[in-house]
Amino acid sequence: MANLFHHCFVIYLILLDCFYLCLPTASAELQRFKQPVKEDGSLSFLVIGDWGRNGYYNQTEVAAQMGRIGEELSTDFVVSTGDNFYEDGLRNIRDPTFKRSFTKVYTAKSLQKQWYTVLGNHDYRGNVRAQLSPTLRNIDGRWLCLRSFIVNAEIAELFFIDTTPFVDKYFSKPKHHRYDWRGVMPRQQYLSNLLKELQTALQDSIASWKIVIGHHTIKSIGHHGETTELVQRLLPILEANNVDMYINGHDHCLEHMSSINSLIQFLTSGGGSKAWKGDFDQLNRDGLKFYYDGQGFMSLQVTETEAKIAFHDISGHSLHSFSLFKQPNLHAGSTSEE
Ligand SMILES: [Zn+2]
Repeated sequence: MANLFHHCFVIYLILLDCFYLCLPTASAELQRFKQPVKEDGSLSFLVIGDWGRNGYYNQTEVAAQMGRIGEELSTDFVVSTGDNFYEDGLRNIRDPTFKRSFTKVYTAKSLQKQWYTVLGNHDYRGNVRAQLSPTLRNIDGRWLCLRSFIVNAEIAELFFIDTTPFVDKYFSKPKHHRYDWRGVMPRQQYLSNLLKELQTALQDSIASWKIVIGHHTIKSIGHHGETTELVQRLLPILEANNVDMYINGHDHCLEHMSSINSLIQFLTSGGGSKAWKGDFDQLNRDGLKFYYDGQGFMSLQVTETEAKIAFHDISGHSLHSFSLFKQPNLHAGSTSEE
């Protein structure tokens, strides 16, 4: 009887997965989630990227400091900019890597909040459907990973974008890697629908702060540099819709760049574990405000009129912080740095 029950339960989980995964990703409106703010109307959260290495390469040390800063700031949620599980994502929904690199690493009390997560290129090298599966939420209730989605946190709206399918070389020159493109093909239709949906959602947004999050860089002097495909196709939409910040991972560093074309701040938080690549661009430093080649994470404290952003190293020290200000219902007018 117990066996029969188990059997039925497994079939139920498979059907549940099919239901979620067979939703038409190419044309559906971006799924929306509501994130409550604190009683005083403010919001605080941490951003970590490029992390899942079974606790190695200082992943555990970074996690401990996230826990400490998270406690100090009483953070409401955590954002992951992708490359969640190295080297090749998850194999299936029972892959022990999920617990070893996530559940058993981010153990601090302050991190027991919702994690909003996008996929990176390394995640696409595994079984993407496993990483997106709602079954993982039964294993660890904090986990929420979708390709592209929106989090509405009243004063701020966060737009999570699946950037890996934009990058040509993963299709044309995958080297010895295999990418799981199920749900992405036909690619051009997937990308143009995604951009159309983002454009509409940004236009309709009435939040004070518009924050776009993806795995790949738009502006960066790090190892990968800028992602041409995103500069060409995504950046014009962000510029036209008064986006305040674009936050990414992919380069294993902490970085802040601004632009002469818009008020967008480009923020890289990709220091979740392996870092110190040492090959950043020494010449093209236009708009560079801060670059740190090592491990760490980012914190954001947001009210209707101020967003305070800080980059923390492996000891939790704030290496660089700055604030953006705006009048209610007006776009950010000034920046101040410490
Ligand atoms: Zn990456």
